[in-house]
Amino acid sequence: MLNIVIFGAPGSGKGTQSEMIVNKFGLDHISTGDVLRSEIKAGTELGKTAKGLIDNGQLIPDDLMVSILAAKLDTLTASKGVIFDGFPRTIAQAEALKKLLNDRGQDVTAMIELDVPEEELMKRLLKRGEESGRADDNEETIKKRLVVYNQQTAPLKEWYKNEGKHCYINGLGELPRIFGDIAAAIESKI
Ligand code: AMP
Repeated sequence: MLNIVIFGAPGSGKGTQSEMIVNKFGLDHISTGDVLRSEIKAGTELGKTAKGLIDNGQLIPDDLMVSILAAKLDTLTASKGVIFDGFPRTIAQAEALKKLLNDRGQDVTAMIELDVPEEELMKRLLKRGEESGRADDNEETIKKRLVVYNQQTAPLKEWYKNEGKHCYINGLGELPRIFGDIAAAIESKI
């Protein structure tokens, strides 16, 4: 089982690189942001709770996110492994993921950090907002999301370093070079 955490600030390329990793390694892809957006679209209670927080650049509470993730994991049968995109975003979530996987006789294989400077993140997200109309890709919400990332999510780099799973990737540049670095990092942890 190959369980990869793809990690980085909003706009660092997690979604794009996840698709390429899925194709090369035959993994299932869990994007917690996509799960929440489809709940919003379906108009569920969860979607209503999530929308207010997402539009304000805040995180969904850990206990809720962990139960969403656990339910999603349980739907995967005969999986070769999972790429976790957008989860974990807090240390509590990282601890919960470790336990969920350990309970299934598995572990995180590698945590891939995509490092991209903030000016570039802002540029990419504003462009994505124009193209996709994603409600949280506007300047005010992006700024809030970056503060939340720096305060609550960035400490996971140290956490995964202590676990011996952290792999640093320069996320600025050409897609094939970045993907090549990711594939080499994953292979070095298998
Ligand atoms: P993303 O598509 O990964 O950028 O996620 C969009 C938004 O969904 C985030 O800004 C959060 O509000 C929420 N979200 C996604 N994943 C998580 C998570 N693991 N924990 C808390 N909130 C999340």
